[in-house]
Amino acid sequence: MGENAGLDYCELCGSPGGEVVWENGLCRVVMVDDQEYPGFCRVILHRHLREMTDLTQKERAQLMNVLFAVEHAVRYLYQPDKINLASLGNMTPHVHWHLIPRWRDDRHFPYPVWATPQRAHTPQRQRINGRQLGDQIIAAMRTTV
Ligand SMILES: [Zn+2]
Repeated sequence: MGENAGLDYCELCGSPGGEVVWENGLCRVVMVDDQEYPGFCRVILHRHLREMTDLTQKERAQLMNVLFAVEHAVRYLYQPDKINLASLGNMTPHVHWHLIPRWRDDRHFPYPVWATPQRAHTPQRQRINGRQLGDQIIAAMRTTV
């Protein structure tokens, strides 16, 4: 974000927000490039709305279906100990969900990934490319939605 960007600049309107692995007319799924948390994704609404209750009921349900399909895909591919789902948006008030696979030995466990790290190193984990994740999201939608 340059110095000339206005106060109204929204990072999620101005950029994809990561590698897009799947999208439809409502939202996109991006993979976050984080070595310590492979499989970290965000489900981002295309439109700039602040809260889930700014969406129609149908859109809310559709967005949740996408989120749960991504959860299925990430569980299948990465087999984490836990999935964290979070919608904060304090910094970027544009509806988006964080989906973060967690492991008992990850850097922040059992605290949120935004908290103070609990350990210096995290084991190397399998890395999966965006194509594999996108394919798995499509498969999850076929069987669960
Ligand atoms: Zn926005």
